[in-house]
Amino acid sequence: MIQGESQDTSAIISVAETSMYLLQDVPGKGKGLVATRHIPRGTRILAEKALISVPKGMYSGKRDELICQQVETLSNDQRDAFLSMRNIHPFDNLPAQYLGIVQTNALPAQDYPDTQAIFLEACRINHDCKNNAVHQWNDNIQQGTVHAMRDIQPGEEITISYVFSLKSRETRQKQLKDSFDFTCSCHLCSLPDDESEERDRKLEQIVSLDQLTALQFTTPPLQTLAYFYTQTRLYSELGREDIGFAQALEEAACLVIAHGDLARGRVFAERAASIWTTIWGSDSPRAIMWETRARDLSLHERFGYSMSWNTAVNEIPQELGPDDFENWLWKREQPTKLAQPANLPSQSCFSGFADLPYNTGPSTTAGGASKNRHWCLLGEIVEDIFVHPLEFEIKDMHGHNIPLHFYTKDRGSELTADQVKRGYTVAVLDASKHIFKLGPPGIRHEDPRMIKIFPLSLAEILALEIQVRQFSVPQHNGFRPCHGCGANAAPASMKRCGKCLSFWYCNKECQMAGWSTKAHRGDCKFLKDPDLRSLFLVNWNEVQDSIQFPLQAVKECT
Ligand SMILES: [Zn+2]
Ligand SMILES: [Zn+2]
Ligand SMILES: [Zn+2]
Repeated sequence: MIQGESQDTSAIISVAETSMYLLQDVPGKGKGLVATRHIPRGTRILAEKALISVPKGMYSGKRDELICQQVETLSNDQRDAFLSMRNIHPFDNLPAQYLGIVQTNALPAQDYPDTQAIFLEACRINHDCKNNAVHQWNDNIQQGTVHAMRDIQPGEEITISYVFSLKSRETRQKQLKDSFDFTCSCHLCSLPDDESEERDRKLEQIVSLDQLTALQFTTPPLQTLAYFYTQTRLYSELGREDIGFAQALEEAACLVIAHGDLARGRVFAERAASIWTTIWGSDSPRAIMWETRARDLSLHERFGYSMSWNTAVNEIPQELGPDDFENWLWKREQPTKLAQPANLPSQSCFSGFADLPYNTGPSTTAGGASKNRHWCLLGEIVEDIFVHPLEFEIKDMHGHNIPLHFYTKDRGSELTADQVKRGYTVAVLDASKHIFKLGPPGIRHEDPRMIKIFPLSLAEILALEIQVRQFSVPQHNGFRPCHGCGANAAPASMKRCGKCLSFWYCNKECQMAGWSTKAHRGDCKFLKDPDLRSLFLVNWNEVQDSIQFPLQAVKECT
C-alpha cells in the first residue's frame, strides 16, 4: 500500500479478473494502481478477502503468533506479494518483519472486533489527500471493497486516503510522516499557502459544527438543521461528498424524523443511502440500512419524538426548482424582501456588494491604510451560525447574499455569539470583494477595527439613516429642523434629546411627538451608540486619512 515498493509484483495483480487497473510505476511513488479505462464515480473497482487479519489491541505475543500462522498458510505467490510490501519498521527476525509489514500496510477491516487486515490489491493503493477512491470493509460480503469516489480517467492513479481527511495540511503531513514515513506532495499538499489556509478553515469549520450539532438536544432543531446544512455545503465546496457528507445527511434525516417530518426525512434518507451506495456499495450494511429506512421512516427509533414538523411522505414538493427545493428541504426561510422605504437605496450613502472594488491582495483591507475615499458596506446577517473560524452570510441592500469570512487574528472569536445574530446588521468599512478559491465571492475580513455589528435590521438602519440625515444636520443658516414638527429654528431656542443627542425639538410637545409618532421611543437607545450616529453623518466623499471603529473621531455635526 505504501509509496516505494521494493519488488515487482505485477504478475500477482494481472491475475485479477478486472481490467480496470494495473500495477504500474508511478513517478515519485514507486508502484501504484493506475486506471486502464474510464472508471465512473460509484464503480466498485475491487472487492477482495483479507489475506491476513489482526484484531487491534491484541496482546503482542498472541498477535505475532496469529500473524505467523496466517503467513504460513499463504500460497507462494501470496507470500511473495506480502513480503514485497513496504516495511518502515526495523526488524531482526521473521515475526518482527511480518509485524512491520502489517503495521505499515494494513487497512481497516471489520469493526467488531476492531480489526485491521492486509489486502493484496488494496494495500497497493497509494495515498492522496484528494483521494479518488475509498476503501471500506463490507461485513455483508466479508470483503474489503474499493469504490471510485469520483470519475477516474484512464491513466490516472487510483488513490485512497491513509489519514482522516478532515485534518489540516500540517496535521496530515505529520501523520503521514510519522505513520508511513513519507512526505505527501499531492495536489492539496502543494497548494499555495493562502489556498491551503482556505481549505483548512473549512475543515476546521466542519469540526466546529460537529461540536455544535452534538448539543442538538439543547439546541432549537431549526438551528441544528442549519448546522447540518452548513456542513453539507462545506463538504461540497471541498469536493468531499463522501463519508462526512453522508453522515450529515443521516443526522439531518434523524433530526427531521424525530420531529415527525417524513417528507424531508425521506429525501435525506434517500440522499444518504445514495452516497453510501456510491462509496461503499449497494450491498454494504450502511447503504441497505438507509435504503430500508427511506422506505419506512416511521420505523425509525426516533420517529415522533415530537410532531412539531409533522409532514407526510407524499408532501415532498414536486414543482420546485433546484434552489427552492433545497430551501424547502433545509427549512431555509425564503429571504423576506427588505422592507425598504420607497426612496432607498438610491439616497443611501452606504454600499452594496456590487459597489465594492475588488481587493488585489490580503493587505488592502488593513485598517488605518491611507486612502482618499472611504465607504461602508451594510449587510444583514441572514443565518444564525457561530462557527469557528467565523463565517456567515449577510444580505446587502440590493438583496444579494454575501459570505463574510473572518481572517482576523482570532478568526472571529473576538465577537460573541450574542453579537452575531440573524437580523442584526454588519457595517464593514472599506470592504472589498474577494474571489475565494472555494465557494462564491465574498468579504475577506482581516482587521477587527473595520467591522461593527448593530442590533438592528438593515431596513431599520436605512430608515434611521434618512431620519438622521434629515434632522441631525444643521442647515446653511445654522438652523435645525425640529424632529417633532419639522419647523426650522435656531438651535439655541431648541431642546436636544439628552440621551442620543441626535435630534432637536422646539419644545416638550414636539419632543413627545417625536418620541411617539416618529418612533424615537424605540430608536433612541440605538442612536445612543456614537458609532451608529457617526456612521450616518460621515461624509464618505470627503478625503480622510483613515477610518475605523470606534468612529468617535469622525467630526460630528453639532
Ligand atoms: Zn497530500
Ligand atoms: Zn417642533
Ligand atoms: Zn434620543
